[in-house]
Amino acid sequence: MRKTIIISNRLPVKIAKENEEYHLKVSEGGLATGLGSIYKEGDNIWIGWAGLDVPKSDEQEIIDKLKQENLLPVFLTPKEIQNYYEGFSNETLWPIFHYMSTYAQYEQEYWDYYRLVNEKFKNVVLKIAKPGDIIWIHDYQLLLLPQMIREELPNTTIGFFQHIPFPSYELFRLIPWRAELLDGILGADLIGFHTYDDVRHFTSSATRVLPVQTTANIIHKDDRNIVIDAFPMGIDSKKFNDLTFTKEVLEEKEIYNQIIGDTKIILSIDRLDYSKGIIQRLLAFDKVLADNPQYLEKISMHMIVVPSRDTIPQYRDLRDDIDKLVGNINSRYRTSAWHPIHYFYRSFPIEILSSLYSRADICLVTPMRDGMNLVSKEYIASKTDETGVLILSEMAGASKELIEAIIVNPNNLGEMYRAIVEALEMPEEEKISRMKNLRKTVMKFDINHWVKIFMNQLEEVKEEEKSRM
Ligand code: UDP
Repeated sequence: MRKTIIISNRLPVKIAKENEEYHLKVSEGGLATGLGSIYKEGDNIWIGWAGLDVPKSDEQEIIDKLKQENLLPVFLTPKEIQNYYEGFSNETLWPIFHYMSTYAQYEQEYWDYYRLVNEKFKNVVLKIAKPGDIIWIHDYQLLLLPQMIREELPNTTIGFFQHIPFPSYELFRLIPWRAELLDGILGADLIGFHTYDDVRHFTSSATRVLPVQTTANIIHKDDRNIVIDAFPMGIDSKKFNDLTFTKEVLEEKEIYNQIIGDTKIILSIDRLDYSKGIIQRLLAFDKVLADNPQYLEKISMHMIVVPSRDTIPQYRDLRDDIDKLVGNINSRYRTSAWHPIHYFYRSFPIEILSSLYSRADICLVTPMRDGMNLVSKEYIASKTDETGVLILSEMAGASKELIEAIIVNPNNLGEMYRAIVEALEMPEEEKISRMKNLRKTVMKFDINHWVKIFMNQLEEVKEEEKSRM
């Protein structure tokens, strides 16, 4: 029987060893939930790295445990992780794809391991894949995998979705292995991005780097037609909506309200990353305080930065810069009863995030570049009282859908400053009218809708191929 195989760098599960035994905790993240409707059914399966270094003697135990959850692990050594994941994925592809070319490292060893690990994934896929199966590969860590699978199993239908931006040709061309990367992705039958700009950039890079032809959003290569399209990803909107009514979240909110009273809260939540524009956001907030003494003791920024990639020097430097700037702003404006910025460098459980989202008067999301940005959508889904203002960078994929947000260019400090003041002063009716429309979009185009339209199009592509054979 035909099955569907999902493949991503990480499996949607946390594995920990306690008392000589491995324990699994299946992820409740949006993507895992959305794809749950697929991989948990019948013979379907999700393949990915197990997320920890496993001694050879323990591998079978992990394989058996994961099998019960329809998961199949790829085991990677610390050296492979260091070069394929931390190296090529996060120090070469990530900065180029986010337009930070000066941060990119072009190490031959990174590339050699990237190819080797993509081969390793292929070998695990080949253990279970059969002609006729549907395969859906996720993200920039596995750009070579579509073509590697196609060469071994020409009659499978392969979809690929990239969760981060695809840069303009002028950036992409900088990568020494650009042709190999494009050849790898083009092994898929359907290639998805969050926005039409990404689709355009990908198609233009392919036609300029490779000898391929295009008609509209179809690339013709080796007698194959490859469809390139935009599928803006949604979140588990109902979960974020419903969470705000739970006892736990209501209690959290109550405690928080007792501490902050009627201070207006500007919320900022990101992973530590130079693509997120955290420094620029702090500078804009500083200017708001400097130029508007009437706001002192009336507004606070609540800033969560989730630790990430701290083996990479630029991330450590960024953390230091944030520490300094937050300290500097707080020391200049704070009073004994009031802090301008409540800064947390750690992650929080979803119930705390929900209470913050639903309480925040403003959510300030100003990445320099972001594939989609889920925080902006989680904020909207959590604003069940239909108030609150979203300030959103035009460089986030989400800005193409969330048009009732205040859209800003994160490089324009003055514009960000004016957006914060506008949000603070916005009449209640306008807030509600904007939020109602934003909520319609986020609640309707959720993660389940995204999975459905990608899978439907993959089925269509398959049918079309059959009819041409
Ligand atoms: N997040 C989390 N714990 C936290 C703060 C944030 O799990 O303490 C989650 C947040 O709910 C969101 C994700 O991290 O789902 C961030 O996704 P986004 O697309 O905004 O950025 P990414 O980190 O993927 O670049």
